[in-house]
Amino acid sequence: MKPIYLDHAATTPLDPRVREVMRPYLEDIYGNPSSIYRLAREARRAVDAARDTVAEILGARASEIIFTASGSESDNMAIKGVAFAHLSRRGHIITSSVEHHAVLHTADFLEQLGFTVTRLPVDSNGMVDPDAVGRAIRDDTILISVMYANNEVGTIQPIEEIGRIARRRRIPFHVDAVQAAGFLDLDVNRLGVDLLSLAGHKFYGPKGSGVLYIRRGVACWPLIHGGGQERGRRAGTENVAAIVGLAAALRFAQDERAEHAAHVSRLRDRVIREVLAQVPGARLTGHPRHRLPNNASFCFEGISGESLLLALDQEGIMASTGSACTSGSLEPSHVLLAMGLPAPLAAGSLRITLGRSNTDEDVDRLLAVLPVTIARLRSLETVTPS
Ligand SMILES: *Cc1c(COP(=O)(O)O)cnc(C)c1O
Repeated sequence: MKPIYLDHAATTPLDPRVREVMRPYLEDIYGNPSSIYRLAREARRAVDAARDTVAEILGARASEIIFTASGSESDNMAIKGVAFAHLSRRGHIITSSVEHHAVLHTADFLEQLGFTVTRLPVDSNGMVDPDAVGRAIRDDTILISVMYANNEVGTIQPIEEIGRIARRRRIPFHVDAVQAAGFLDLDVNRLGVDLLSLAGHKFYGPKGSGVLYIRRGVACWPLIHGGGQERGRRAGTENVAAIVGLAAALRFAQDERAEHAAHVSRLRDRVIREVLAQVPGARLTGHPRHRLPNNASFCFEGISGESLLLALDQEGIMASTGSACTSGSLEPSHVLLAMGLPAPLAAGSLRITLGRSNTDEDVDRLLAVLPVTIARLRSLETVTPS
């Protein structure tokens, strides 16, 4: 049976059209964009054109776009870069308790260097209260970092409202928009954001590609020193093929945003409706309305998310718990705990994230397998003493 991929928040397959756009830069046009002969100038032109494309989609200037190697790098550069520009006096950073670890662990690290961090709570839907952002601002606040859409539960944050507060108080505002690209408006001026992170592989572009937008005038120091690439803000010979691929993928994702959202949200609504109807004690996690169109995430009492994933994998269905389960340490998700879910319930999480290639037949298969699998796991796990 054809395997079914339902983990598009983890990564997406490369769009074949993007692969074809990238191909010349993996093969014939291998010149270093910093060199001066024609082969190099062709590579340079491709990087410049990619930068123009990304800038246009973000409503930014080309000079405000930095190409990086991942969403994690973009988050690190935004937060450490702004912090390092305030190294002499340290300062205060506001973020939320449901950020990706690329943000939270960076904030933890800066705390060790003497910065202070406020991690704002969220409500039971995973939503940050913009007024709480305003109340957390201090005289020494140097940065606000709140994600656009959550990678585990799909909740969309009130970015424009937070942006208005940040702008009024003149504090740089960073947004991790890695999950939002391809679904939500990315215009940095409408959103009122000063720094914004993207990752190519989350919208059918290549892995190992990222973008950081930095508004002109925002002090953000480089993390990687060396050559003068990226206007001296990120040294290292450009990954030309990945940059070209990211820009092409973002262009396709932006142009096809409405039809893509309509496709996945229809499937998502089927999954949510049927799972809640067919699985006793199933709970939808994340905001019921303000959520990504491709995200259906749940908690099921009395099972572990990991055993559910393994059982689904046996049936050829690829999904996620949405939590960070690294090398056997089954930490419950910080996102679900921050939303107030009890740890035993949070341990039974499942994240379904739909994508371009998914069909009604895929949802049929999931719905044929999931309720019986959960019932079987529950009957096994209740006899196991914990
Ligand atoms: C995937 C993801 C990242 C990290 O991106 P990488 O390219 O995998 O480093 C950061 N933030 C969010 C919200 C993500 O979903």
